[in-house]
Amino acid sequence: MSQTEYEVKVGMECHAELLTQSKMFCGCRNEFGGEPNTRTCPVCLGLPGSLPVFNKAAVEQVLRTALALHCEISLHTIFHRKNYFYPDLPKGYQISQYGSTPIGVNGYLEIEKADGSVKQIRITRVHLEEDTGKSIHSDGAGYSVMDYNRSGVPLMEIVTAFPPDIESGEEARLYAEALRSVLLYLNVSDGRMEQGSLRAEPNPSIRPVGSEMFGVKTELKNLNSFRAVQRGVEYEAQRQAAEIEAGRVVIQATYGWDEEKGVTVLQRLKEVEQEYRYFPEPDLIPIDFDTEYIESVRASLPELPLARTRRLREQYELPAADALQLVSDRATADFFEESAKAAKDAKAVANWLLGDLTRLANAAGTPVSETPVTAAALADLVNLIVAGTITGKIAKQVIEEMFVSGKTASQVVADLGLTVSGADEVAGIVAGVIAANPDVVAKIKGGNEKSRGFLVGQVMKAAKGRARPDDINRLMEEALANA
Ligand SMILES: [Zn+2]
Repeated sequence: MSQTEYEVKVGMECHAELLTQSKMFCGCRNEFGGEPNTRTCPVCLGLPGSLPVFNKAAVEQVLRTALALHCEISLHTIFHRKNYFYPDLPKGYQISQYGSTPIGVNGYLEIEKADGSVKQIRITRVHLEEDTGKSIHSDGAGYSVMDYNRSGVPLMEIVTAFPPDIESGEEARLYAEALRSVLLYLNVSDGRMEQGSLRAEPNPSIRPVGSEMFGVKTELKNLNSFRAVQRGVEYEAQRQAAEIEAGRVVIQATYGWDEEKGVTVLQRLKEVEQEYRYFPEPDLIPIDFDTEYIESVRASLPELPLARTRRLREQYELPAADALQLVSDRATADFFEESAKAAKDAKAVANWLLGDLTRLANAAGTPVSETPVTAAALADLVNLIVAGTITGKIAKQVIEEMFVSGKTASQVVADLGLTVSGADEVAGIVAGVIAANPDVVAKIKGGNEKSRGFLVGQVMKAAKGRARPDDINRLMEEALANA
């Protein structure tokens, strides 16, 4: 048995389709799916004589992202042709940015680990390119057909720096999650990994702990979820270690992740680095940014997820996990803050939002921020609990009714007569329960404290959740003392 211990290093290449109205170099609509080849034109089909014109909105979205990722911005930037032949690329080249002047360079993204520590993941470049078409393979019929709706869709590539800062499958997942949430906050991507509009491709390599040399990396594809990113990297690191332990070498190649089997599958060997014959795109003018424009874009950036998570934790004294969950979606975080400002207990707002409201919203397939329960209505519910008008148990019933009817909590409580029972009413119930259970009372008097819970349960049942636990306990204490 070998004693060699290995460490994994992971570079990450992420691609995000941008949320523009039109494609990168033509006026075709930029949208997911649809009838194949219905959103194409001579430019994105690569017909001879057609000329590209770049989409300014796409350039601005990449600039926003680069600034949010703390990049330096290239004041002068150009497009290149990346030449290769593949059916999904009708022009025979992809327009991309190559070399030293992508829009953003030398930035970083912070990830927060489970223990609360923060790690900087350096980013080497953020650049703009165009997406390719999509091959649709016929099952077993021996041919493929092409859909060019995606051809020419603006695509942003974000590449981490070498040597890699990511050192585990978990960190790879955290990076992908943090990046997605930044892109969602900037409103530049819909972040749908399952639809491929956001693609995370890790390049893991391993080396013996203490080694100066880096190992051979492999490239992982088909990771359609965050969980797959973590599992894929973990599996691949183990597979590489097993190869080395067996006296073989790791071969540079592309592997696809098989979600069902939980394994990576060899897709393509990379025996030689492909020669793309990059050269400047002659049909497009360079982009020259002026610093005033860059600063105006920087000033327009929203508060970003990590900063917001920290603020929510401090301002509303939320547990870290709750703050993280609220912030993962900007609309949910906005909803929370609007509600928390109107409520007397912000923590309770977070609990109801992440608990019952999220459960109801998920069951209905609606985002939390778009259900009939408004931020003001949720604050009203929490305030009724804080004021002692309803119990937490009744509140569960109230929010269900609010979700269905769109009424405010106060309306529901008034309509259904759900206010808490007065002390007299509870005292009456307690007296009744004690009278009906003389044997249990005797046990308690004999020192069996556990039996007290049974009586409390009977009272709660009789009060139908409308009695305050404090009242029950106090009145039960008094009644037992006198029994
Ligand atoms: Zn087009």
